[in-house]
Amino acid sequence: MATAAEVAAQFQELYGYAPHGVWSAPGRVNLIGEYTDFNEGFVLPLALPHTAVAAVSPRTDGILRLHSADLDAPLAELRVDELTPLSDGGWAAYPAGVVWALRAAGHRVTGADLHLASTVPTGAGLSSSAALEVVTALALDDLFRFGLTRPELAVLAQRAENAFVGVPCGVMDQTASACCTDGHALHLDCRDLSLRQVPFDLAAHGLRLLVVDTRVKHALGDGAYAERRVGCEEGARTLGVSHLRDIAYDELPAALDKLRDVKVRRYVRHVVSDDHRVEQVIALLDAGDVRALGPVLTEGHASLRDDLRISCPELDLVVDAANTAGALGARMTGGGFGGSAIVLVEADDTDKVTAAVLAAFAAADFTAPRIFPAVASAGARREI
Ligand code: ADP
Ligand code: MG
Repeated sequence: MATAAEVAAQFQELYGYAPHGVWSAPGRVNLIGEYTDFNEGFVLPLALPHTAVAAVSPRTDGILRLHSADLDAPLAELRVDELTPLSDGGWAAYPAGVVWALRAAGHRVTGADLHLASTVPTGAGLSSSAALEVVTALALDDLFRFGLTRPELAVLAQRAENAFVGVPCGVMDQTASACCTDGHALHLDCRDLSLRQVPFDLAAHGLRLLVVDTRVKHALGDGAYAERRVGCEEGARTLGVSHLRDIAYDELPAALDKLRDVKVRRYVRHVVSDDHRVEQVIALLDAGDVRALGPVLTEGHASLRDDLRISCPELDLVVDAANTAGALGARMTGGGFGGSAIVLVEADDTDKVTAAVLAAFAAADFTAPRIFPAVASAGARREI
C-alpha cells in the first residue's frame, strides 16, 4: 500500500519536482439502498479504508499530465481546453473528466500534473472510479481555491463520470467518497443531497462487517443498469410521480396494482421497499439494535435477486453460505452481476463464516473470493 509520502516521492521521480500536495479519497460499500439513488431515494454507504492517493501540482500553461502507478499505461498528456467528452481516453478519462466538469461549471483549471496510486480494488463494486474522481476534484479545488463544498465536488465528479466517461451512475459513490466520516455511515437523501452522519461502530457491539469481493464481473451487467433505470422511470410516469421516491412504503400495494408491466412492477417493488429498508436500518442503528440489521440485509438481497434481478450465482452463494454458517445477514452490494457482497457477523464468528464462504466457492469451482472487514473510515482529505 502506497503511503502519501511514497506517492509524493513517485511524483517527484516522474515529473522531476515535488508535488504541491497529496490528497486521498476512499472507495465505499453501500450498507443498504441499491438503485435508489437515481430514483431520488435514500442510500447508506460507508467509506472503506482503501483509498486513491494523488500527488498533484497546478500548472498555468493549459497542460494536464496524468499518471497512475497501478497501470502499465504511459503518462497521458492532454490540453485542458481540448478535453472532449466520450472520447474513450481509458483510465485518464476519469481525472480528465473532473477537469472538464470543473471548467464546464466555470471553474478555471489551468492545467495540472497528477500522479496517483490506489488501494481500492477496481471493478469490484467498491467505487475505485469515484475515489479517483473525488481525489482529483478535491486536489484541484484546494490548489485553485474554488471553495466548493464536499457535496458540490461530488456532483461535479458524478458529472465527469456521466457526461465525460459515459457511465450513467447516480450520485451515491462520489458523495460517499467525498462526505463520509470515520466511524459513521452516511445517510444520504439523493433528492436534495442532504446528509446525516449515522454512528456505525460495529466493534463496540462485538460485530463485524465483511466485504466479499467475488472477483467476477458478468458481461450481462453492461446494459442492465440502463434498462432498470428506464423501467423505474416508466414506473414513476405510470404512477404519476416524478421519481419512485414519491411512493411511500404503505402505498406500495396500491401502486403495484396500477402497473401492468411485470418487469416494471418488480423494479418498483424493489426500489420502494429498499428505500424503506434504509429507514429501517437507520432506526435500528439509532436504537442501538445493531444485530437486527442482519435480516434486513438478507431481505434486501432477496429483493435484488428476485425483483431487480441483478444478482449472480457467486453473489447468491456468498449470502447463502454465510447465512448458513451463522452470519446475522448478508447481501450483494453495488451494481450487481458480480462485484462484492457484505456480510454482518458476530466478530467471534468471522473465521467460521469466512471459511464457510471459501469452502462453498471451492466446492462450486468458483475463483476464491477476497474477504476483508469493512471499517467505516474517513472521506476524502488532504494528506500532505
Ligand atoms: P469500480 O468503480 O466499481 O471499481 P468502474 O468500472 O466504475 O469500477 O471503474 C474502474 C475503472 O476506474 C478502471 O477500469 C480504471 O479505468 C479506473 N481506475 C480505478 N482505479 C484506478 C487506478 N488506481 N489507476 C488507474 N485507473 C483506475
Ligand atoms: Mg465505478
